[in-house]
Parts: sequence; C-alpha cells; structure tokens
Amino acid sequence: MRARLLAWYRRARRDLPWRRRPTPYRVWVSEIMLQQTTVAAVAPRYEAFLRRFPDARALAAASEDEVLSAWAGLGYYSRARNLRRAALEIAARRGGRFPSDPEAVRALPGIGRYTAGAILSIAFGRAVPLVDGNVIRVFARLFALRGRAKDPALAAEVWRRAEALVDKDAPGDWNQALMELGATVCTPESPSCGACPVSRDCAAFKTGRPDAYPAPDARRAPVPVKWTCLWIENSGRVLLWKRSDKERLLKNLWGLPEAGRVPAAAGRRRARTSHSITHHALTVDLRDGNLAPGAKLPPEARWVPRAHLKDFLVSSLWLKLLKTPPAASGRKTRP
Ligand code: SF4
Repeated sequence: MRARLLAWYRRARRDLPWRRRPTPYRVWVSEIMLQQTTVAAVAPRYEAFLRRFPDARALAAASEDEVLSAWAGLGYYSRARNLRRAALEIAARRGGRFPSDPEAVRALPGIGRYTAGAILSIAFGRAVPLVDGNVIRVFARLFALRGRAKDPALAAEVWRRAEALVDKDAPGDWNQALMELGATVCTPESPSCGACPVSRDCAAFKTGRPDAYPAPDARRAPVPVKWTCLWIENSGRVLLWKRSDKERLLKNLWGLPEAGRVPAAAGRRRARTSHSITHHALTVDLRDGNLAPGAKLPPEARWVPRAHLKDFLVSSLWLKLLKTPPAASGRKTRP
C-alpha cells in the first residue's frame, strides 16, 4: 500500500510553490499559511510573502504591522503574529537557523504537533508522522474507523496509526502523499475511488459506502453579530481604530471605528456587507461619522492617509465593505 501510494504521489502530485524548494523556512511558512486557508488562496500569496521576508532573520527584523500587512486577506491573524514571534526566537537564539530537534520545533510559538511533523518530515527527512483533516479522513476510510471527524478519540487513533506507518525512507513524501490523496481523490463527498491508488487496501471502499467514513460532524449554527462602523474622513485622512486583544473578533487589528467608540454621530448609511469569521456571521453597516467639534480622540484612534489604508485594513472584511456599492439611500460617492 505504501509503495503504491508513494508511486502515485510522485507521479500525480500538484506542482505547488512550497514543494519546489522545501527548506525548513519555506515549509514552515507554507504550513502556517495553509492552516485554515485553502491552497488556492495561499498559492498566489506565498511567493510574495517570501520575496518580502526571504528568511527568518528578515521576518524577525520586520514590525508586526508590516507582517500583518503582508498577511492581509489570509485571515486568522494570530498565525502571522506567532510566525513573527517564532522568527524573533530563531534569530535571537539560533543564529537564524530553523531548529531540527523535535522538542525545539514544538517549543516555537504557533507550532503544534501537525506543523512540527510537516517541517521535520518534509524539510529534514525525519520519520515523524503528521495528521490533519485530510489524513483523518483517509485513515478513517482505509481502516473503516468509527467516530466523527472532529472526535478526539478518532484523531488519537489516527495519530497512533500514522506513527506506525510513516515511511522511514521517505517520510516527507509519505506524509504529503496522504494529504494529497485526501485533498484530490479521497475527498469528503463523493471520493474518486475508481482513480484511487490504494482502493484495493481500503476497508471503507469494500463496504460500498466510503463516504460514510468518518461519520459527519454535527453542524454548529453561526453566531450572528451586527456592527455599525463609521467612515470619518478629514483632508484625505481616514480615522482608524486599533482593536484590542479583548475583542471577540479581529483582535489586535486595525479597523474602521465602531459607533460609540469615538465621539462621533452615525449618519447616512454608505454600505452594508455580510462576512463570516470563525462561526460568526457578521452584518456590518458602514455609516458616515460626524466627529463632534473639538472632540478628543482616544489613544486607539489614528488618522491614516487614504492611500495607505490597505496597509492597515488587512482583514478581507474591510476590503469587501469598502468595495460594496453605496446603499440605495446613501451618497453617490463611495469610500
Ligand atoms: S478507495 Fe476511496 S475511500 Fe478508500 S482511500 Fe481511496 S478514495 Fe478514499
């Protein structure tokens, strides 16, 4: 089974930018970007990020705002902060070289068991396993394992099997072959068993209902959230607001101020958009904000030239909101 899957991977794998020169730094950045973001969204952004920050030293030398700006639109911004924090540690304590010792890798901010497994096996050739959602699905089917996809007991069982099966000679290819199979052939719905290199080894295939493994997760209803944000502009500069780490969403990121946070009255509606962030369904109204004369601004507020907004408003929520046509009752101009 291992030989068949490896041969298939080497023949059929997608040509992805991070596979071309799998140095520890390049694998690390790709794995962090690919957590919770699709390959299609990451691929065009990955090379641009590496051009801007070609190694851990360059990343460590950048400010947090610069790294967040390069991460704009990828979401889950704590990943970018952890990436920079880890780069600072690598630059300060390891002379800029990524560690190859599993414990040292796991101790870096933002690196869990999966990411450590990916870096160690792909970049260093260490025979360590990795398990992500694709691997859970593939193993649940190959061995007809019981349990829901997000069930910790199923994940523990898959980790155990992955550890036993990892290929000692080609651990990086083996781990990537499992993930590639899950991403392109053994997909969540309607797996392409006819094109699968390991169908003869697959217990779920033999049952005739491969898509019944793993059992589907119960769906969580999204939490509705409503925001009213203000567009306050003065002499070509727009008032932004740095959200604190106590916020429920978009912590520590710049955004347009929500009504009530700055001494301004909400006026005419300019735009409305809907956006999803981690199980939250946001509806955001953008209204003209009229600052009270002589109003004193809180320290979280900052005037930013309109041309520099994209360096601050990194969440795709703002991009979407500012591109939304004005509300029918609103002005003809738009932000
Ligand atoms: S035979 Fe079908 S269910 Fe089994 S591993 Fe292959 S694609 Fe997945």
